[in-house]
Amino acid sequence: MTLTLIVGLVLNAIALPLAAKRVLFLSRLITSGQPAPDRVENVTKRTGAAISSQLVEVLGQKKLLKWSVPGIAHAFVMYAFLILASVYLEAYIILLSTKADAHFLIFNSWGPLGFLQDLISVLCLVGLLIFAIIRFKNQPAKLGRKSRFKGSHTGGAWVVLIMIFNVIWTLFLYRGAQVNTGVFPYGDEAFVSQAVASWLEPLGHDANEALETIGILLQIGVVLGFLVLVVYSKHLHIFLAPLNVMFSRRPDALGPLEPMRSGGKALDFEEADPDTDTFGIGKVEDLTWKGMLDLGTCTECGRCQSQCPAWATGKPLSPKQVILDLRDHAFAKAPYLLASEAERVTLAPDILELAQRPLVGTAEENGVIDPEVIWACTNCGACVEECPVDIEHIDHINGMRRHQVLIESAFPQEATTMLNNLERRGNPWGMAEDRRADWIGELDFEVPVLDGKIPEDTEYLYWVGCAGALEDRAKKAVKAIAELLHVAGVKFAVLGPMEACTGDPARRLGNEFVFNMLAQQNIETLNDAGVAAGTGKKVIASCPHCFNTISREYPQLGGNYEVIHHTQLLAKLVADGKLTPVNPVEEKVTYHDPCFLGRHNKVYTPPREIIDAVPGTTAEEMHRCKGKGFCCGAGGARMWLEERTGKRINEERIEEALALNPDTVSTACPYCMVMLGDAINAKKAAGQAKQSLEVIDVAQLLVRAVKLREGAAEETSA
Ligand code: SF4
Ligand code: SF4
Repeated sequence: MTLTLIVGLVLNAIALPLAAKRVLFLSRLITSGQPAPDRVENVTKRTGAAISSQLVEVLGQKKLLKWSVPGIAHAFVMYAFLILASVYLEAYIILLSTKADAHFLIFNSWGPLGFLQDLISVLCLVGLLIFAIIRFKNQPAKLGRKSRFKGSHTGGAWVVLIMIFNVIWTLFLYRGAQVNTGVFPYGDEAFVSQAVASWLEPLGHDANEALETIGILLQIGVVLGFLVLVVYSKHLHIFLAPLNVMFSRRPDALGPLEPMRSGGKALDFEEADPDTDTFGIGKVEDLTWKGMLDLGTCTECGRCQSQCPAWATGKPLSPKQVILDLRDHAFAKAPYLLASEAERVTLAPDILELAQRPLVGTAEENGVIDPEVIWACTNCGACVEECPVDIEHIDHINGMRRHQVLIESAFPQEATTMLNNLERRGNPWGMAEDRRADWIGELDFEVPVLDGKIPEDTEYLYWVGCAGALEDRAKKAVKAIAELLHVAGVKFAVLGPMEACTGDPARRLGNEFVFNMLAQQNIETLNDAGVAAGTGKKVIASCPHCFNTISREYPQLGGNYEVIHHTQLLAKLVADGKLTPVNPVEEKVTYHDPCFLGRHNKVYTPPREIIDAVPGTTAEEMHRCKGKGFCCGAGGARMWLEERTGKRINEERIEEALALNPDTVSTACPYCMVMLGDAINAKKAAGQAKQSLEVIDVAQLLVRAVKLREGAAEETSA
């Protein structure tokens, strides 16, 4: 046995058991989470979707490439990792072979492989250089909260970059030496190896033989060291990311919240027992195994943090930090989680104390996550949209909210009135049910209010929503929509007092009980109205929260409907020539994407088509728009909570709009109208916005341009 082989085997004997021990620990920790049968079904029953997610997100690097420069750099490094597996294999074969010229047996001297190996190694070095520059320019010490790496383990990231660099230079060292000793399996195609060989050639044959041996051992040693480093560090994502992407919600973890489950089964509120059932996430072990997998997969890239409106405005919430805090706690609690009942009593006192830490609690309570963190979330979805490894932040944050509300009764007190109003009156403002039809009396045409089944000749049921029916600014948008439908000859009816809140604010706040109550009531109403899916009837929703809840959350409770947002219908009516915008509106308009219409439901184009169809308007996009749109601050039930810390989110958003000096800020959500309207009023009062500036729904813009009865535009203008 040669010395080379002995050294190689010793390196393997040290590194592989270390790596295997860690992999075993990680797999035990991840699988200690709650069952998630739906995630397994996602893969087994929707194999095509699972494969396409691997092709598009993992191999295609779709999400990473949204940020072009770091995305390309990451693609170089990732493809180097894949392609250079052939080089590591060659190095091992050489180590184990008795033949001096042993090399990669399968492709055996195949020139294109040699070229590809050299090319990707160079591109990997380019990628490393880009990463180093990005990290250098984005140092938390320099940029503070503006750095996406704030809170990340930056030291570890530099070590990983150096390790990858070591993989590449050792590779070129032994390949260059191989050329000079005559055992290199490739020719001139391996252009870098040949160049290195020309530098090493003057050293002579014996020295090159020695360098080949040293290079191979270094290469194997570095790769083994890297393997150990990966499984013990955040670079675990190299192995976990494909799994996390495979088991993530499809098409993404946006839109509906997941139903509450205990032990993998849907929670039945009638039967559930708080002592034995899981109510949301109250302990780290209440996470499902997919939740645990999320924690291990985070790369600490900080993309989520950089897009979070709460973080951007000085709140304590960073979606990255939530994941890292949960991860660190899960790792620290692992000895307890992985121990049997009998073993637990023998654990060290500090482990037992750690096991009792409240997951959500203030610093005085020794909590893992501060309550202010979970209540600061607007559920805007920017974190989920950005995360390159499909981590499902909203599910974790709302899981903790559910536990806080349902078990601890600990939530911001200002939400109590809203929840009481929902339970007693079916709307967050606590207004009388019959006020829901007030807006109809302000129109000069009839809008049928159903008291039974929808008539045969009426295709649409217009779900007005609480804000649309009861809030003065939102009512103007509702009247504009009704006016446009009337002009276009679309037959529609409304539920009037029969409509109740969809339950979205309760659900987003974590009160699944109130959500269930309202949702079941509405499902019964909608079914009695005869508008269930398959009847040919459609539900129009002008509030994106209602749109999301009815179309994507009610199916969880057996209510299935064909739901269309008003912007989709109005854009179609314009395209079909049923609405003809003829009156010029000479205004510069900027459009604000409501998170629950855009990011959560991917409706980006119809509102913009409506604006473009209005003659005279000049549309200009804000810097943060479409998938990168910035929240108004109202989602996640934040509309009903005080904003005590940092800058107001709506103010931050409106400043971005004001930078364009628009005449009109348009949107397609009653909550956004209220939040942005409040921010504009504050700016006007401070003399920082022109008095004529207004926030309106795109329907209000359209109604001004469509030839209408005299006076109609005034009725529906802001
Ligand atoms: S959903 Fe929005 S507010 Fe909540 S953590 Fe994610 S980015 Fe931040
Ligand atoms: S959660 Fe996702 S986006 Fe955020 S730091 Fe981790 S990997 Fe990056």
